[in-house]
Amino acid sequence: MKADAAVQRRLLDLAEVDAELSRVNHRRRTLPELAEISDTEKTAQAKRDALVAVETTLGDLDREVRRQETEIDQVRAREDRDRKLLADGNVGAKQLADLEHELATLQRRQGVLEDDLLELMERREAVDADTSHARVELEKAQNALTDAQARRDSALADLDSTEAKRVADRDLMVKQFPADLLALYERVRAQRGVGAGLLRGRRCGACRIELDRTTMSAIKAAAADDVVTCDECGAILVRTAESGL
Ligand SMILES: [Zn+2]
Repeated sequence: MKADAAVQRRLLDLAEVDAELSRVNHRRRTLPELAEISDTEKTAQAKRDALVAVETTLGDLDREVRRQETEIDQVRAREDRDRKLLADGNVGAKQLADLEHELATLQRRQGVLEDDLLELMERREAVDADTSHARVELEKAQNALTDAQARRDSALADLDSTEAKRVADRDLMVKQFPADLLALYERVRAQRGVGAGLLRGRRCGACRIELDRTTMSAIKAAAADDVVTCDECGAILVRTAESGL
């Protein structure tokens, strides 16, 4: 294949644009925000689970408190009834003794229930504080997630804009190349990642491998408009004043 030496040299500009496009793609996949988002999502999920657990406990305690209060009310109502009967005085000696005995029992029962209720209320208060804390923790994790997502979106927007500019540059550039040369470049780039490299000293600019003497002799003997490729990576070897031939 033949191509004007000046045209071949312009392949280096194209290769540079392609390298930048590859870097943009690599950066898009490896943004530190992606790992951060993944970690923060896990944290937020854990905080959400923790909040649900503590809210469930709080709900259970609320139900227990209500049940305890209902029971205390029932005991009190019974005591009131007994006291009223005693106050009325229309009871016989046997019933009087029974009522007094029952009142004493009810009062003891009420004392126990009230102590239990107090303990329940204290536990509820502690769990309520835990719930508030868990809510704050979840909010923090959600804010961190939103923040990381915003930074990711901004980084992606920058990359999209760089990519759009370089793609526009590339569209103009590729029009300058003869079809066969461009096809070769594109084929090698598709297969190996880099379509052309500068030959510097004995080293291929695409794969960085040093060429052997025989290959170097063949390249030296080649005409300026011959298109030569690297035996190692297939890239078009572009010769310039820097090549040291
Ligand atoms: Zn090479």
